[in-house]
Amino acid sequence: MVRVRYAPSPTGSPHVGNIRTALFNWLFARAQGGKFIVRIEDTDRNRFVPGSEEDILLALRWLELDWDEGPEVGGPYSPYKQSERAELYRETAHRLVDEGKAYKCFCASERLAEMRKEQEAAKTAIGYDRRCRRMSKEEAAAREANGEAYVIRFAMPLEGVTSYYDLVHKKEVEFKNVLTDDFVMLKSDGFPTYHLANIVDDHLMEITHVMRADEWMSSMPRHVQLYRALGWEPPKFAHLPLLMGPDGQKLSKRHGTVQFTEFIGEGYLPDAMFNFLALCGWSPGDDREIMSREEILSLFSLDRILDRPAVFHHDKLKWMNGHYIREMSLEQYMAATLPYLQKEGVLPAELNAETRAYAERVLPLEQEKLRLLGEITELTRFFFEEPKSFDEKAVAKWFGETHISQMLDALIQRFNALENFTPEETERVIREVIAWLGVPNGHVIHPTRVALSGRATGPSLFDMIAALGKERVVRRLEKAKQMVRV
Ligand code: GLU
Repeated sequence: MVRVRYAPSPTGSPHVGNIRTALFNWLFARAQGGKFIVRIEDTDRNRFVPGSEEDILLALRWLELDWDEGPEVGGPYSPYKQSERAELYRETAHRLVDEGKAYKCFCASERLAEMRKEQEAAKTAIGYDRRCRRMSKEEAAAREANGEAYVIRFAMPLEGVTSYYDLVHKKEVEFKNVLTDDFVMLKSDGFPTYHLANIVDDHLMEITHVMRADEWMSSMPRHVQLYRALGWEPPKFAHLPLLMGPDGQKLSKRHGTVQFTEFIGEGYLPDAMFNFLALCGWSPGDDREIMSREEILSLFSLDRILDRPAVFHHDKLKWMNGHYIREMSLEQYMAATLPYLQKEGVLPAELNAETRAYAERVLPLEQEKLRLLGEITELTRFFFEEPKSFDEKAVAKWFGETHISQMLDALIQRFNALENFTPEETERVIREVIAWLGVPNGHVIHPTRVALSGRATGPSLFDMIAALGKERVVRRLEKAKQMVRV
C-alpha cells in the first residue's frame, strides 16, 4: 500500500511551495487509496519557531487535506514528532559506529572554521577533511572517556558514484561520491541532523514514496548511502520542481504573498487554492484550468508531474478565486464575506434582521467582480457608512461642470417623489434627468456615482441606488452639493 508523508520543519509560517508539497502527497495517497502521514521534523532546535506547527496544521485543515497518521490523530508509528523520537536516532547512529560505517569526530568548531578558511583560500572542495576517520578506536575511546564532546559522522565512500531513479525527472540521477563529505548524523547534543532522522523515520514508518521539493535532491547521495549502510530498502523518490515567479526566479516575497496563512487572511477560498496549487507543477494532460477536487483526484498521477519549474502567477490565482466566488450560493457568499466587514468594524458582530437584509441586498452586487474576499470591505464600505473621502480625480472632473447643481437638485426632487425605489424606476429617473439637462449619459451617471459612493467605479449605478434606498440617496445627494465648485 502507498504510504507517503509530508514532513515539515516548524521553522516559520509555511511557504506556499511547502503546502504544495503537502497537497501533492495527499493527492497521491488519496488517488492510490494509500495513507497520508504528517511528521513534524523539529530536531533543529535553533531554527524552531513557536506557532509554526500550528500554522502548518491550520493550512492543511483549511485546504481539507486530512491525514491518516500524525499529530493530533496518532497512529501505529507514534510519535510523529521527531523531538520525541531522539533515542531511535541515537541508537541507529551508534549502531553504524559499531559497524565501522560511521565514526565519532572530536574536531572542535574552531578547528573546523580554520579548515574551512584554508580550503577557501586554496579553492579546494569545502567539506570535512576526515581527520577523525583515521583515528584509532583506542584514541577515540580515550577521548570520549575524557569527556570530550563529539559528533557522529557518516563515512561516505571515497570513490565511485551514488545514483537513484527519480520518478518525476524520469531518470537515473548520479552523484560523484568524492563531492559529498562525511556529514554529521548526530550532533554533540545527541540530536540527529535532518539526514539521519529523516531516513530513520521514513524506514520505520514504512514510507513507500518520498515526494518533496527539488531542493532536497542534493541530499540523495547521503540518503542512499545511509539506506545502504543500514541494510534498508529505500523508498521511491520523486522531487518536485520549484515554484518560480513570472521572472524565472525562485518564488519569494518579491513576487507577492508567499506565506500560506497570509493567503488565507486575504480571502482566498480553499477550493480555488486547491485547484490552483494542483496545477502548479501537475497537468491533467490538457489545458483545463477550472477543476473540482474530484476531477483532480480522479486524474492525479505521478507521471503527470512536470519536470520543470512551475510558474506561480498571483493574477491567475486571483482570477481563479473570482471564479469560485461567483459559484457560491448566496448563503455561502454571505457567510464568507460578512466576517471581513465585521472584523473591520463596518458591521457589528451581531446583525439585526434589518441590517442583515440590507447586507444581503448590497453584498451580492459585488459578487461578480470580487476576486478576493478581503476586498469586500473597501468595495462595499460606502453602503454602510457615508463616504468620508471622494475620488479626487472624479470630483475634479465632474463637480466643476455647469450642470451639476441643477442635476443634484433635479435628482433629489425626483428621487424624493419616487415611490418604488427599484432599479428600473431609479434608472427611469436618471434617464429623465439626462434628457432634461441635454447632456451625454456619463455627465450624470459618473458624478452621481461619486456623490453616492465616493468612488469612480462600482456596481451598476441603478442597482446601487435602489439598494442604498431613498433615504441614504437623498441625504448623500444633498451633502454632495458642498463639493460643487461653480
Ligand atoms: N523537514 C524537511 C522540510 O522541511 C523535509 C524534507 C523531506 O521531505 O525530506 O522540508
